[in-house]
Amino acid sequence: MNVSELTKAKYGKEAALCTDEEIYYTLLDEVQRLAAAKKRPESKKKLYYFSAEFLIGKLLSNNLINLGLYDEVKRQLKECGKDICAVEEIENEPSLGNGGLGRLAACFLDSIATLGLNGDGVGLKYHFGLFRQVFRNNRQTAQPDRWLTDDSWLIKTDKTYTVRFKKGAVTARMYDISVTGYDSTTNKLHLFDIDSADESIVTDGINFDKELFDKNLTLFLYPDDSDDAGRMLRIYQQYFMVSAGAQMLLDECTAKGCRLYDLADYAMIQINDTHPTMVIPELIRLLTERGLDMDDAIEAVSKACAYTNHTILAEALEKWPISYLKQVVPQLMPIIEVLDNKVRRKYDDKSLFIIDKDERVHMAHIDIHYSVSVNGVASLHTDILKQEELNGFYNIYPEKFNNKTNGITFRRWLLHCNPELSALISSLIGNGYKKDASELKKLLGFRKDAEVLNKLLEIKNIKKRQLKEHLLTSKNIEIDENSVFDIQVKRLHEYKRQQLNALYIIHKYLEIKDGKKPSKPITVIFGAKAAPAYVIAQDIIHLILCLSELINGDPEVSHYLKVVMVENYNVTEAEKLIPACDISEQISLASKEASGTGNMKFMLNGAVTLGTEDGANVEIHDLVGNDNIYIFGDKSETVVERYKKASYKAMEYYEENEAIKKAVDFITGEELMEKGCAECLERLAKELKGKDWFMTFPDFDEYVKTREKAYKDYENRLEWAEKMLVNVAMAGYFSSDRTIEEYNRDIWKL
Ligand SMILES: *Cc1c(COP(=O)(O)O)cnc(C)c1O
Repeated sequence: MNVSELTKAKYGKEAALCTDEEIYYTLLDEVQRLAAAKKRPESKKKLYYFSAEFLIGKLLSNNLINLGLYDEVKRQLKECGKDICAVEEIENEPSLGNGGLGRLAACFLDSIATLGLNGDGVGLKYHFGLFRQVFRNNRQTAQPDRWLTDDSWLIKTDKTYTVRFKKGAVTARMYDISVTGYDSTTNKLHLFDIDSADESIVTDGINFDKELFDKNLTLFLYPDDSDDAGRMLRIYQQYFMVSAGAQMLLDECTAKGCRLYDLADYAMIQINDTHPTMVIPELIRLLTERGLDMDDAIEAVSKACAYTNHTILAEALEKWPISYLKQVVPQLMPIIEVLDNKVRRKYDDKSLFIIDKDERVHMAHIDIHYSVSVNGVASLHTDILKQEELNGFYNIYPEKFNNKTNGITFRRWLLHCNPELSALISSLIGNGYKKDASELKKLLGFRKDAEVLNKLLEIKNIKKRQLKEHLLTSKNIEIDENSVFDIQVKRLHEYKRQQLNALYIIHKYLEIKDGKKPSKPITVIFGAKAAPAYVIAQDIIHLILCLSELINGDPEVSHYLKVVMVENYNVTEAEKLIPACDISEQISLASKEASGTGNMKFMLNGAVTLGTEDGANVEIHDLVGNDNIYIFGDKSETVVERYKKASYKAMEYYEENEAIKKAVDFITGEELMEKGCAECLERLAKELKGKDWFMTFPDFDEYVKTREKAYKDYENRLEWAEKMLVNVAMAGYFSSDRTIEEYNRDIWKL
């Protein structure tokens, strides 16, 4: 590729005379052209990955890397005085997901294409992402995040499908994004939208008229569901996505000669969490409409579907009232009733039914009865599904249950975000690890090599300085690159326990005020969006922002401890934060985090985990061994028991543990009240003392002790570097290439 030739053709001038924006659009065109010219994988059977979210991140660099052009383009730009990073800045991050589940879907698409498998993603083209988070007066405010631009990675196709609702029909139009595999074939992400979407109905912030379904259907990812209209809108969105996707895939299969009964020979449908569940009754409906009888249609569809469970949190398992479904998609109800009746005829156990006594449809139950596979996303999570949450289903379908421990794409989370580290790795063990991540283990040969360990430390320092620079220029936040960077970035949720981290910070602040100074300064960094209707999550953000103002403004303390909360945490921020991290906080309550993937990204970039035995942390622990991870807290069995017996009393810990009492009381003490909103802080303190549903108090002492131990160990730089090296070396298991190979081997069989 010759960038200047391209800019001359597009703008009539050499690259050196172009703006970053002009260069960005030139590269966009060319990458689109090259991606389209690449081979598409071919096979009789094809995978359709249905997901409400694809958190794909910016695409320019990712595509350049996958097409093998990144270094060359970077060099050419440098020669004409341009910086590829500045060009990357022009791109808006596609805002099609909210967190781990959406990011997983994006990593999977990358790996599916890289492995040359025939598989496309199916989702929605949201006009606005979740929201843009802006902090005002130490609180989160939500602003519309319009990420679409006239010229973007989306290619408008002429494929359209009619989707019928009770209130009327809409036309679904398909848009495509090319998914370039690393040195491999190209797949597609199909995103559906309505031509009649009307952004002008969005008023102040992220509010809009929820009734106008033919205008609002695809405006927002996860519209506020705190009222009936909002919940109903989610059903509109889900049905719209699966109906258009189902029609599209049936057309593709028929074109390949599929007779409807043989659907499973031509298509596998992976249902990512319960949001796309209606694809099952919808496909059954379409097959009967095209001539199959009901029983044959049910069998054909069941053989083609597989379901991934992402959570055991009861409130996150979707149950739609029949009355809603009847108002939105009445055509599905007779089918759902048939599916439920089949279950009732076979089993007495009411917990297995699809429709419960309160006339609600349990979406996960449709998935489990009418698919070939049910998988969890980390080994502990799958065990809990089998033994606890879905035990009744496991007993009748043991063969359906399987584990697929999550993974991440190393192209984005190492090659792109940490070229310095990946260059060092290449110089030590060659380039093979880029396609076969298990080769990273060869790094273990350098465990005692002081020169290598020092290089590793030096790279970490470079990444820390880059982050410092980024925070300074973009947010005017100043941090000390010589401090320990202790980072917790992920969606804000009580089960992820940012509040436990905050309690530690208060504890540390009080110690410093008492004259007990840490020997090494500490910078604690948070990044997290909270759902706008999730009150306690907002309160936790408020607490962290107030603490940040108090601590950073206290000259007695700020030299030793700093608290930073990065606004609008997204993939782009993650790519800057993760490589700079020393200590990765993965402190969810054991049993609650299905897997986590942030933990894997940090490990791969040489951070050491401070975490509980939860989700994939358990597998990280097994891989790196006790010396290279900091584990604390109650085990999942203990937690599960405590819930069963309802034996946990937060107040007892508060009253008996001096340190906990001091830290909690500080939340409503004078210093913080001055900075923040009394109502919010009091509500949070009351929640902790009275309930603490995610059990931060029982883990508090051990958390403090373990964190101090990590800080102390950090001071022996060479020993610490060895821990970093072992983490990088053992991260190969968490490549999403491995995960996808397992999905294909056990479920898809493409
Ligand atoms: C990886 C990632 C997540 C998931 O993080 P967890 O720590 O696993 O919850 C969420 N958001 C973004 C932007 C990510 O890149």
